[in-house]
Amino acid sequence: MDRSVVRENIARLRGQVLAAAVKAGRNPADIKIIAVTKNVPEERMLEALREGITELGENRVQDLLAKQPRFGPGVHWHLIGHLQTNKVKSVVGRVDLIHSLDSWRLACELDRRSREAGLVSEVLVQVNVSGEKSKHGLDPTEVPDFIRSGLDLAGISVRGLMTIAPLVDDPEEVRPVFRDLKRLFDSIRLSIPAVSMTYLSMGMTNDYRVAVEEGANMLRVGTAIFSGR
Ligand SMILES: *Cc1c(COP(=O)(O)O)cnc(C)c1O
Repeated sequence: MDRSVVRENIARLRGQVLAAAVKAGRNPADIKIIAVTKNVPEERMLEALREGITELGENRVQDLLAKQPRFGPGVHWHLIGHLQTNKVKSVVGRVDLIHSLDSWRLACELDRRSREAGLVSEVLVQVNVSGEKSKHGLDPTEVPDFIRSGLDLAGISVRGLMTIAPLVDDPEEVRPVFRDLKRLFDSIRLSIPAVSMTYLSMGMTNDYRVAVEEGANMLRVGTAIFSGR
């Protein structure tokens, strides 16, 4: 794979994000791109960093911890995959944002381990908007009460919502998923002012343009950055 491919991919991605943002009347500077680096070798990750990427996302704790020592302090790490409670201890304090808070049990364990370590873990609540059985995440109707209860857990700070849309051929099909999550995000912002709802993490390679149009401000993109073409 030519070393300029990652550079070209990132340039193209930024162009598309810009176009989608402008189309939706949004400021492109409000939209963070997280480069999803699962199964991506460290050389390719370093190329992305050279292009100005600062956010890296891994979906497995082991992979994240294995890669992390190679990278300096300028990188922000995102855990985007399902987190098992027995892995919480090893990840607390090592990541900037956990996108996959999907159960009360996990919330309690994150809270406990974070307080033990004397810190606060920033998390997004994962929402299963589409209701697919195979997906983790809370039912949308459960989210407001979950977040209200979470305010009592001093070791975690909920910073927003995340969803994974179903994989479809035409991304237009998942527009309602993104629209629903944005609506939930806005309603929680209004109804629970004590929570700082900042991030709306939605949109991947197949559907990020639609996600931007519907209000995403964190995109998790792997293939469009690292695939060889
Ligand atoms: C792999 C993954 C992504 C990125 O998917 P691409 O289609 O490669 O952009 C985003 N979010 C999660 C949770 C993932 O596991």
